[in-house]
Amino acid sequence: MATNKDRMALPPPEAQKTNLACHFCIVGCGYHVYKWPENLEGGRAPDENALGLDFRKQLPPLAVIMTPAMQNTITDKDGKRYNLMIVPDKQCDVNKGLSSTRGGQLAKVMYNSDGVGKERLRSPRIYVADQWLDTSWDDALALYAGVTKKILDNDGPAALAFDCFDHGGAGGGFENTWGTGKLMFTALKTPLVRIHNRPAYNSECHATREMGIGELNNSYEDAELADVIMAIGCNSYETQTNYFLAHWLPNLQGQTVIKRKQRFPGETVAPAKVIFVDPRRTPTIAVAEQAAGKDNVLHLDIEPGTDIALFNGLLTYVVEQKWHDQEFISAHTKGFDQTLQANRLSIEETSRITGVSADKLKLAAEWAYKPKASGHRPHTMHAYEKGIIWGNDNYLIQSALVDLVLATHNVGRRGTGVVRMGGHQEGYTRPPYPGTTKIYVDQEIINGKGMMYTAWGANPFQTTLNAEQHRTVILK
Ligand code: SF4
Repeated sequence: MATNKDRMALPPPEAQKTNLACHFCIVGCGYHVYKWPENLEGGRAPDENALGLDFRKQLPPLAVIMTPAMQNTITDKDGKRYNLMIVPDKQCDVNKGLSSTRGGQLAKVMYNSDGVGKERLRSPRIYVADQWLDTSWDDALALYAGVTKKILDNDGPAALAFDCFDHGGAGGGFENTWGTGKLMFTALKTPLVRIHNRPAYNSECHATREMGIGELNNSYEDAELADVIMAIGCNSYETQTNYFLAHWLPNLQGQTVIKRKQRFPGETVAPAKVIFVDPRRTPTIAVAEQAAGKDNVLHLDIEPGTDIALFNGLLTYVVEQKWHDQEFISAHTKGFDQTLQANRLSIEETSRITGVSADKLKLAAEWAYKPKASGHRPHTMHAYEKGIIWGNDNYLIQSALVDLVLATHNVGRRGTGVVRMGGHQEGYTRPPYPGTTKIYVDQEIINGKGMMYTAWGANPFQTTLNAEQHRTVILK
């Protein structure tokens, strides 16, 4: 039986059933995997299929999410052909039976000689006379290693530039990332290395780490308990779909009010609000408006690159209003007065820089930081992602954000946190970077440094900050 396009084979009751955590993004949703021999098929009666569902009549809505993309037929290591079905797990607390456009295709992307990966290269290729030609590994390595050696002998390791994939997920991260590091750092000792998604060999969150706040400091449940979620440069409906749908949305729809009241006795519990900081109006904003009502959604559509001013302006305003937590600040931080002096920015000036009206800025500060009617501080969760971590200013932006969060004690309490939303799951390690400071590799390349450039599981022509100039220089 070939992979079906217009019908789905049901797993028979004896199908092997295992659990799987989706590896596509950091949310980590649970799925069930059914695997059974290619020539078998379950029946429609509940005792004839492994799902235990009655397909002889119309199922109720969302009884199971099951699409043709959730099945495949593969050849396993034993050489035999098997059908696979991968459907979301309703019992999993993370996704509660939801799938997404990525995780919903886990079966489809399993390797199959006719499927994804059929165009995989089987030999090295060399670009000559305006075309790619297959070549042997001996020739390819002689060329690659020969040029590398010549550069090392004549110019030293820092002339060898790499744009290399980093922190791969899906179980390959440890071995792959370690292996590349052994070559680049241990053997060649070059510091001229950038990571696939950023212009240097740096962390995406080095500022917050250096301030003593790891970038993952709450749980999904905190999104259910927050009075306010401030979403900064993240588009979570599209990119962390089931975290948003299963944990933010119920709070925005008022479904967690009882839970919040139980968790925070004596505190005012009003409908949750959400503040988006994003130059764009994203699909997440539109969905949030539907869920929470427009009155509970605020969009701070700042001019790109003005996040630092926004956070410094909010910090200044919050302290002027005396909404900060002096006790927490004194107990856990140093240099608060100097921070205020250095970063002071009036609301009017903040408005001029960010392009957001002073009224909107004050409203955001009131929602997120003004003590509630019961006198308690609001529980405000700050979620951020690529919008601030992938810029060259990420160190300063995250410092400004964490200043504001610390001043208002929005970390270390339930319903709070200052956290990355995350791109994908990461598990990796690499030998130490041989440089003393992080080099802005793209700029170095544009300025003519580096004699050989290796793009390793990365696409620098599309993913640098100055891609066009970068490409021109490399091709030249
Ligand atoms: S949100 Fe989607 S991509 Fe992310 S883990 Fe869940 S199913 Fe996978």
